[in-house]
Amino acid sequence: MMLRVVLSDSFPGEGNTATMALHNHGEVVLLLGAPGAGKGTQARFLAEALGVPHVASGDLLRVNHQRGTPLGRAAQEYMDRGDLVPDALVVDMIVDRLDEPDATRGALLDGFPRTVPQAKALEKRLMQRGGGRIRRAIYVDVPTDVLVERLAGRWLCRTCQATYHETFNPPEVAGFCDRCDGELYQRSDDQREVVANRVAVYLRDTLPVVERYARAGVLQRVDGNQSITEVKTALLNAIAEDEAVPA
Ligand SMILES: [Zn+2]
Repeated sequence: MMLRVVLSDSFPGEGNTATMALHNHGEVVLLLGAPGAGKGTQARFLAEALGVPHVASGDLLRVNHQRGTPLGRAAQEYMDRGDLVPDALVVDMIVDRLDEPDATRGALLDGFPRTVPQAKALEKRLMQRGGGRIRRAIYVDVPTDVLVERLAGRWLCRTCQATYHETFNPPEVAGFCDRCDGELYQRSDDQREVVANRVAVYLRDTLPVVERYARAGVLQRVDGNQSITEVKTALLNAIAEDEAVPA
């Protein structure tokens, strides 16, 4: 049975109990979505709704590097050579992160896996931990032309990384951040052709991952082509307790 969650003024963290419970630190919810799908905005919201940490693969690399961990140093060697960090190394960082105290009830994983080999590597390591698994994969689905339109007009705050859009979400004062008054800038790779290529590469690599979890029966598709509030409601429905798991 699917519990419908009605989103009014109350947001998760304010006593919403209708979300699924993750049972152990090996259980992971994946958030999948192309660049421009609004995933960054939604991930923190979803993590809070689940009561688990938001683990972004990019952040893991930064944190491991800053702390000078063995994994961080190993990753740095690859990056210094201009090579990609191997999947196994990123998976190791994820598994390490799952051992931290705030992840006793699992984690929301954002930005990984992006490819089927990464998905397989992650699943294998989770299983080796003893019962770890992908509890659910949520795909924020947005039409390709909409993704390109969103990304091509994007501006970022230099100070707090807040994102704006010249059409959909303009700042109150052009060129400056509403939150911190920081200067807004547009990344060179937010050019239209570059964006279109980035989206195409993502879909080529990651749609097979989405299909993989659809076949496994753990996929929830969320229509990402609606208002932020509507997407939030859809996300809450996607993690609503749907069935009792047989013990
Ligand atoms: Zn700012």
